Order: sequence, then structure tokens, then C-alpha cells
Amino acid sequence: MAQNFAFTLNATDGAARTGVISTPRGEIRTPAFMPVGTAATVKAMLPESVRATGADILLGNTYHLMLRPTAERVARLGGLHKFMNWERPILTDSGGFQVMSLASLRKMTEEGVTFSSHIDGSKHFLSPERSMEIQRLLGSDIVMAFDECPALPATDEEVARAMRLSMRWAQRSRDAFGDRPGHALFGIMQGGVTRELREESAEALKAIGFDGYAIGGLAVGEGQAAMFGVLDYAPGFLPADKPRYLMGVGKPDDIVGAVKRGVDMMDCVLPSRSGRTGQAWTRRGQVNIKNARHADDPRPLDEACSCPACTGYSRAYLHHVFRAGEMISGMLLTWHNLHYFQEIMQGMREAIAAGRFAEFEAEFHARRAEGDIAPL
Ligand SMILES: [Zn+2]
Repeated sequence: MAQNFAFTLNATDGAARTGVISTPRGEIRTPAFMPVGTAATVKAMLPESVRATGADILLGNTYHLMLRPTAERVARLGGLHKFMNWERPILTDSGGFQVMSLASLRKMTEEGVTFSSHIDGSKHFLSPERSMEIQRLLGSDIVMAFDECPALPATDEEVARAMRLSMRWAQRSRDAFGDRPGHALFGIMQGGVTRELREESAEALKAIGFDGYAIGGLAVGEGQAAMFGVLDYAPGFLPADKPRYLMGVGKPDDIVGAVKRGVDMMDCVLPSRSGRTGQAWTRRGQVNIKNARHADDPRPLDEACSCPACTGYSRAYLHHVFRAGEMISGMLLTWHNLHYFQEIMQGMREAIAAGRFAEFEAEFHARRAEGDIAPL
């Protein structure tokens, strides 16, 4: 097992890359999709089931965990890995994004952000230094710098102001993180959809020096075309020998398009959240298991899928347990969705290594264009 954090690039195909991130808690094959374990759980899944889908790493949310059960309590109980029974790598976000999207009564200064908890209204403070402390208490393997991500659309002035503040906070995050062998600190590029601001942000981050670089401020409502527009150039501003992480992405076609443009890591609540609302993602696109057409259908969700939901149950059963409000509905659909997302990642890793990413992409889109199997 690696003693230090390291990234090895094994192959490239166009801008797409495949490699391995080594950490003392295990290897992360890239491109990697990270399921989101918001409150120290990937909802409806046991940790060993998440691992069985092929996940090498989970994401935990600083904002949620600092409020409940609190980072100090998690630390007293042995850290987040032990607390949630997941021994492999964990990446934690900085809390900045969720303070902006969930908390109320926010007051931002150069120092940091004061806000009220969305749970009980209690008052809290987050700053680069406090975010580093919380992520250290949690025991996170990959720590994210504290940043401010303005919601789009925003004026160029507002995007530039937030980006420059985030770069000052990135330096403070670096200073507060210190020297922690085996743990990594990632900087976050901001700058909205403006090329010059993205470049300025990347230069500032590279001057500070990080173990990996995230592309932040995307997947916040700008749309896929605008996001791909940024990804056509932004990954190229970052060092080739460090992992690149696109935060909060996405749908299967977003993921394939991001990897094509040079992204190594992604995370999204989509597969687990969809699983709890009766939405399945398959090679043939989206399936709404609530629809009456499935009520008498004895066929699996996807006959080519090897997940427990597809090998053991019919569409009729999945439809029934969703309609009946049974917990197994969310469990099975979440498992299937996470399994499918990891299957896409594995397919891309193999395709990049074999120099046939374009063929993978063509096949991926062709199968989706066919749509779901015809009703019986
Ligand atoms: Zn399945």
C-alpha cells in the first residue's frame, strides 16, 4: 500500500486520460466516479454494497457533517472511515458550496462565512482555516480548499470577485493544511464561463501548488453546452501530472463528455437520489419505474446488467415496491444506478487504455438513442 498520495497517468487517448491515484487507504482508478455519502452514508446502501458496485472512493460533505453529528464527535469516535464503516479513500468538500446553497442568514467577509444551520438555525462560522480543521478531524484523504462558488448567471465582475477571493482563500487553505503525508489537498479553479478568468485562476492555483486540481463553478445551471465549452480549454490550464476533478457532475452523458475533455474524477448525488424517486439510468437512457407500462413486465430493468436489481427482480416487482412505498425500492434502484455509473467508468478506463475512446463514445450514444425496450 502506498505511504503517500501519488497520481500515475497510464494512458491517454485524445484529451481523455486513465491512471491511478495511490493513497495509504487504497488505489483510485481514474477516471473515477465518486458516490456521495452526504451524512456519512450513501443513502439506501451498505458501504460494502457501494464497494461492490466498483466505487474506489466516496465523497463526504463537510457542511452536513459539521452540523450533525459535528466533526469533533466524529473525531472522538475514531474518524469518518471508522464511523461509517468505509475503510477506503474519502474525499470531503470544503463546505463552501453548501453554505451558499443550503444555509440561511449568510454573512461573508474576507475572513470567512457566518451562517445559520438549515437544521436548527444555530449559528456557525466557516473559513479556510476552520474548513481545514473540520476535514482533518473527519480524517478525509482528499481535502478540498475552501472557496466561494457564485451561482450562474452572474456578472463578470461578480464572478471575478468571487474567483479572486477564492484564490486568497486557496492560499490560506494551503497554509492551514500544512504538511500531512498520505493526505492530499486539492485547489479549486473558479472563473465561471470566462476563459480569461479560468486561466487567471489556474495560474494562481499552480503558483500555490496543490496535489490535485478541481474545476469548480460548473454544473450550477449553465447547461451542458456551456459546461463543455469551458471543459474544452480549462483542463489544459492545469498540470498534466496531477488529478483533475470536476465537481458535482453529472448525468451519464455529462460524465462521458467530461472524461473526453480530460477530467479524471467526478461526483454526483444523481444515481442515489434518482434511485429514491423511481428513476433508473440504463444503457438505453432513463427509465421511470413508476410508469404503468412496467406493472406486468416480467423482464429485468436491463438484461445486460449484472447488478442485484437486474439479476433478481422484474420491472413489475420494481414498479410494485415503488408504488407501495417499500424501502427495498430505493435500495435496488440506487444499487442499479451506482452499478451502471461505475460500469461507464470501467468502460471508459478500458477504452482509453486501448486507444478506442471514440468508439466507446459512439457506442454509448448509439445505445442511448435506441431508447428503452418497447413495452410488452
Ligand atoms: Zn442493474
